Amino acid sequence: MLRAATHRTPIYRDSGFLFHDITEAELTFRQERQHPVSAESFVYTRYGNPTVCAAEQQLAQLEGSRWAALTSSGMSAIDTALSIFQKGEKTGTWLFFSELYGGTNAYIENILKATRGISIDYFNPSEDSYDFQEFCEKLDTIKPSLIFMESVSNPLLIVPDAQKMLCAARERGIKTIVDNTFGTPFLWQPLEDNADIVVHSATKYISGHGNITAGLLCGNNDTIHDAVLDYRKFTGCILSPDDAYRLQTQACTFKLRFAKQCDNAYKIAKLLSQSKSVSRVLYPGLESHKTFNNANALFKGKGFGGMVTFELTGGRAMCDAFVTQVHDHIRYIPTLGDINSILLHPHTVFGAKYPESMIRLSVGCEDYPYLQQLLESSLG
Ligand code: PLP
Repeated sequence: MLRAATHRTPIYRDSGFLFHDITEAELTFRQERQHPVSAESFVYTRYGNPTVCAAEQQLAQLEGSRWAALTSSGMSAIDTALSIFQKGEKTGTWLFFSELYGGTNAYIENILKATRGISIDYFNPSEDSYDFQEFCEKLDTIKPSLIFMESVSNPLLIVPDAQKMLCAARERGIKTIVDNTFGTPFLWQPLEDNADIVVHSATKYISGHGNITAGLLCGNNDTIHDAVLDYRKFTGCILSPDDAYRLQTQACTFKLRFAKQCDNAYKIAKLLSQSKSVSRVLYPGLESHKTFNNANALFKGKGFGGMVTFELTGGRAMCDAFVTQVHDHIRYIPTLGDINSILLHPHTVFGAKYPESMIRLSVGCEDYPYLQQLLESSLG
């Protein structure tokens, strides 16, 4: 007799699910409008899928949220989170922290501003830190309907005074979205501190092997959940069942990987600060970082993340030489959060606002002595 019990939800690849008669289909369609929570109420994979749903339940536990929704990429998660708050002429002004991932900036300029005509304002850091008083003044001046921030900014690694800021936004009835890709639920769970939606590029730390492109939204409010599921259904940006299954297995090791990445990154940040080839190290765990106190308060000693940004004394030429020298060990790949360490040159990827001498290192899970030896021999 065939016995094939599995502790995981298998991959349901079907695009549509089977009904025995019209009445059953009618009832299930009606239930689907209340959104699929059990395998009986699935209708069509673009609406919801059992494998995707199982992965969502697992990821909701990770972010400590009531619900989670998976999308086809981090950008589609951001698009979904923002779009559900677009209300025609009543949309109001949306306030974005100005230090954001380059793709998010491009989306704001090309889609939100140029195509949809949404009124956008930016909140700028002064001296690589966001000032709380200035933030409150900005809220009271422009009265935004929505705020978007990153828990740790890409690539300067600025950590906002987020608990106070989210509280100030909640007191004023402003919706808040936190991109927690760099912070991850390991360091901070923004929903505990009043955020309305948390988004992730699950392409990064949550999947962790550079082989899944996925986005994640998490929240506690059921009305927002309904709006997210509707938007995802209408625009067709749900994650594929195959990717959801793989994400489910890879996410099992997320905490182990991220703990090691934080540990390695902290040691590397210290090491680089002592190198004569390095003129500046940006790492929120170093006292020299402008937002060290915010990171300490927010992450409560759990770590400071797996990203280290630094500048080399010899400018672009030295960056070129460094990337070439370490190439067989630390690859240049335009992503981050992988189990292997990887590099990026922000100036040539995100634009001239970042110095030519800057390198962004996504620290992996290699043995620290190996990374130490590699960096010492290539940088001195
Ligand atoms: N948010 C942050 C902070 C990112 O770094 C990225 C990508 O690098 C994204 C969102 C977009 O994610 P994806 O590439 O999965 O669409």
